[in-house]
Amino acid sequence: MPEAWKTCAACKKPIPHGAAYWTCSVSTCNRARFQPVFCSLACWDSHVAVMNHRNAWADEHRAPTEAEAKRLAAGEGTKRRIVPRGRPAAEDRPVLIVASRLKAYIKDKSGMNTSAEVLEVLSDIVRAEADRAIDEARRHGRRTVMARDFR
Ligand SMILES: [Zn+2]
Ligand SMILES: [Zn+2]
Repeated sequence: MPEAWKTCAACKKPIPHGAAYWTCSVSTCNRARFQPVFCSLACWDSHVAVMNHRNAWADEHRAPTEAEAKRLAAGEGTKRRIVPRGRPAAEDRPVLIVASRLKAYIKDKSGMNTSAEVLEVLSDIVRAEADRAIDEARRHGRRTVMARDFR
C-alpha cells in the first residue's frame, strides 16, 4: 500500500499521492507551515462552518505523485481556484479602488495588466488605513477624518 501524501484536516482520511485535494483561501488557513488540506469539498465545507469563515473559497490542487513529491520538497500541487463558499463577499468588504483608473495607471506606467484580485487586496489595505484614521480622529474628539490622521 503506497504511503499517503497528507491527511485530511477534517475527516483525517489519507490523501493519496496524485489525488485531488483542496485548501482554504482564508489567510489564517493559508500559511505555508500549518496549511490544512482537505480530501473533498464536503470536508472543506465542514471546516468553513466550524471556523465560521466569511468570503472563503477552496483552491483545488492535485497532490504530487510519489516521484514528484521526491522532486518537490515543498510538495505543492498545481493550483486551480474554484468554488466560492461560506458567506458571500459581504457588503463589509466592498472594492474601494477605482478599477479603471488603477488599471490605466499600471498600464501607462508599465504596460502591464492588473488582475481583479489586486482591487480586493488594495481595498483591504485602504480599509485598514481608514479604520486606523477613524480611531485617530475619534481619539481627538473630531467627527471629521483628516489627512493627518493617516500619519
Ligand atoms: Zn476529508
Ligand atoms: Zn479555513
